[in-house]
Amino acid sequence: MPTPKKVFYNGKIVAYEDARVGILTHAMNYGTAVFGGIRGYWNDTEKQVFVFRPNDHYKRLLDSAKLLRMQFPYAKEDLTAATLELIRVHEYREDVYVRPLAFYSDEIIGVRLHNLTPALGIAAIPFGRYVDKEEGAHVTVSSWQRIGDNIIPPRGKIAGSYVNSAFAKTDAQLAGFDECIMLNQQGHVAEGSAENLFMFRNGVFVTPPITESVLEGITRRTFMMLIRDELKLPLEERPIDRTELFLADEVFYVGTGVQLTAITQIDHRTIGTGQMGVQTARLRELYFNVVRGKVPKYRELCVGVY
Ligand code: PMP
Repeated sequence: MPTPKKVFYNGKIVAYEDARVGILTHAMNYGTAVFGGIRGYWNDTEKQVFVFRPNDHYKRLLDSAKLLRMQFPYAKEDLTAATLELIRVHEYREDVYVRPLAFYSDEIIGVRLHNLTPALGIAAIPFGRYVDKEEGAHVTVSSWQRIGDNIIPPRGKIAGSYVNSAFAKTDAQLAGFDECIMLNQQGHVAEGSAENLFMFRNGVFVTPPITESVLEGITRRTFMMLIRDELKLPLEERPIDRTELFLADEVFYVGTGVQLTAITQIDHRTIGTGQMGVQTARLRELYFNVVRGKVPKYRELCVGVY
């Protein structure tokens, strides 16, 4: 993957090579960083890149930073403005992925969260699919347990906690699966390595509440809204058992990266018909239209770059 020409770093747009970190950087040694993942979608009719819900993503970034006691002189709107500028500087006219990273930049020895100096960078790159099999993934329930609120809070996007995701994702992929589902410390379904999860069973959508050790996902919120307001079908936030997934009619991941990815097999058990379900397909089509700015009702979620 080629690196971008420029990045936003500590308040300015600079050459990628000029935003450097040293070996002793606190965040590199102790995982004391938080990050985000935002997509921009190219709309060919309007010749426009629409960034999807940037203020909501930056609110979550600043919330995640707050968990690590980081303070910044930026409001979420400032970070959105910097992101639009960064996309313009590269003249991207395609789908893009934006990666903000807030990290403790001190080059010192000593694990802690206080008396440290936060830094903030944003990079934007062209981007396509995150999961190859968005139309039907075969996944496994991981033997690695999802971290919990009293370990590293999963509601925030804290860099160090992604070692937990990486263990689970690598073991799943090396065993031949596309992705994994992680259970929380209560043994309930939490989420994937980098995606929230929904099931559809007996006419009702269900997703675990945030208190089940899942990230406060922005895409999760978008789908909750689309299920209620567009599909007008019932939706519950409640704990889910592993075997409920086996009996579900439809199961799918949602997230900025995976967008909506259908899960058609879990540990060699066929989910529903074994193909992407009817509701999943409806939601997926709706989502792609919303994020590209094609649905007037949801247009305010899309921020145009040009
Ligand atoms: N859960 C985890 C663990 C993630 O890393 C992500 C990706 N950010 C998600 C869920 C989905 O979150 P969002 O919809 O905000 O991208």
